[in-house]
Amino acid sequence: MAMYEFRMEPFTDLKQKENIKQYHEGLKVVESYLGEEYPLIINGERVKTGNVYESKNPADHGEVIGYMHQAGEKEAELAMASALDAFETWKKTPAKVRADVLFKAAAILRKRKFEFSALMTKEAGKPYNEADADTAEAIDFLEYYGRQMLELEEVDKKVLSRRNIERNEFKYIPMGVGAVITPWNFPLAIMSGMTTSALVTGNTVLLKPAITTQVIAYKFMEVLEEAGLPKGVVNFIPGDGPEIGEFMVKHPKTAFVSFTGSKAVGQTIYEEAAKIRKGQKWLKRVIAEMGGKDAVIVDESYDPKEAAEILKGSAFGFSGQKCSAASRGIIHESIYDEVLKELQKVTNDLVVGDPSNENTAVGPVTDEKAFNKIAKYIGIGKEEGKLLVGGETDNSKGWFIKPTVFYDVDPQARLMQEEIFGPVLAITKFKTFDEALDIANNTEYGLTGAVLSKNRAHLEEARESFHVGNLYFNRKCTGAIVGYQPFGGFNMSGTDSKAGGPDYLKLFMLGKTVTEQL
Ligand code: NDP
Repeated sequence: MAMYEFRMEPFTDLKQKENIKQYHEGLKVVESYLGEEYPLIINGERVKTGNVYESKNPADHGEVIGYMHQAGEKEAELAMASALDAFETWKKTPAKVRADVLFKAAAILRKRKFEFSALMTKEAGKPYNEADADTAEAIDFLEYYGRQMLELEEVDKKVLSRRNIERNEFKYIPMGVGAVITPWNFPLAIMSGMTTSALVTGNTVLLKPAITTQVIAYKFMEVLEEAGLPKGVVNFIPGDGPEIGEFMVKHPKTAFVSFTGSKAVGQTIYEEAAKIRKGQKWLKRVIAEMGGKDAVIVDESYDPKEAAEILKGSAFGFSGQKCSAASRGIIHESIYDEVLKELQKVTNDLVVGDPSNENTAVGPVTDEKAFNKIAKYIGIGKEEGKLLVGGETDNSKGWFIKPTVFYDVDPQARLMQEEIFGPVLAITKFKTFDEALDIANNTEYGLTGAVLSKNRAHLEEARESFHVGNLYFNRKCTGAIVGYQPFGGFNMSGTDSKAGGPDYLKLFMLGKTVTEQL
């Protein structure tokens, strides 16, 4: 069968009534299984522990999405034994067979697209467009990594002989058991991308999804099973981050850790994985994608109205809960007042509410912890800057926070330095473009950034000096497309592993050279 080249999964046109109707159908499917109980999956077996976590709708505390059994150390140890065992056969399974699981899983997701998007609306609080993009990205990861694996296999076929002397061979082999620890903010895309990149390369996996989005992860496990994934290749062990996550990281049989989450947890993992423990025979590899403090620079050449739209889109999509979300606006003094005026208007127009309603632009934040943290930063913002718009919070039914903008914030202020991970944007002004770049680079992060400018010299200067993993010109600073915009950050934003890029899968493999003298 001919292999089609990778093409991005198109987003659903949500202006079409027919598509909205299908989304409503998806919501109905999800509603039909609300409040069900979900076990762990170890070696293909369903395991109940009796320690149950209630996953709730962030837009409505009263609605339970699912009751999730939680793993303890005993189950994590069983999962490790299962993964070690499965590794012995999975590592020898041809790449084509492994890739095929991903292609089939992509087809199943495509068939159940509206259901998965609707589940993200319910469990993660994603508005329709954001959830649809998340499902599309998950499909992209599956299609892309499947193809990448087939390409990497071709390396084997290159004969590296030195004429008349010896035959040399180079190939990639899997590493072993990987600890895959995923975040809640792209509960399908990032979770499935991290899991399948590890398995398509021949490794076996212990998967610990983020606590608030475990039902989505369970449903994806079912997709992998339906796609023919043998038992034990992915062992699903949801549980408490500090307990189960740390256990997986510290385990001497863990070969690598693939983590996406906050800077604080990422740093702990990096440190803990570096320690050699009794019975450990290798140096663990850590692939870590962490937080951001992303900035949009607007220079004097740019239209203020357009700039305000881009700032709004960059800062408030999915309530600012994206590692790539703009949380700093750096604006030239000559257009500063005008941009603020426009930004106030467009931010005020955003409809905040329950994302089950198709007219909602901004849903809730993920849970009480996030709500309290963001509310605290709004308090700090009131001291460090001037409130332009927003600032209100409402936790009576769900975790709602109005999109909020502070201006005249000092570049050294906490609001300009610390990741808030919510719908809060801090604005400052600059005089020269060099000053703007200094401000932009002046955090410990280095994930995404954007420059809005009609001035070619400014864009070229930024290309060189704006030190971020993903830099965008004259558009939003969010939105990474698999296969086109490999994504990952510098500095304390992570190990620059570039998910969705051509080099990503090699991170999960070892290169082996065999030389035979003749
Ligand atoms: P967290 O760091 O809180 O959690 C991420 C994962 O780590 C969760 O599964 C969590 O489990 C687990 N965990 C928590 N504590 C430990 C521990 N001590 N040892 C091992 N694992 C642990 O991040 P969030 O889930 O809140 O995700 C948001 C963060 O992710 C933001 O900082 C965001 O910028 C970043 N992110 C980065 C991306 C990138 O590509 N650079 C992409 C997306 C998000 P539990 O949920 O049970 O606590």
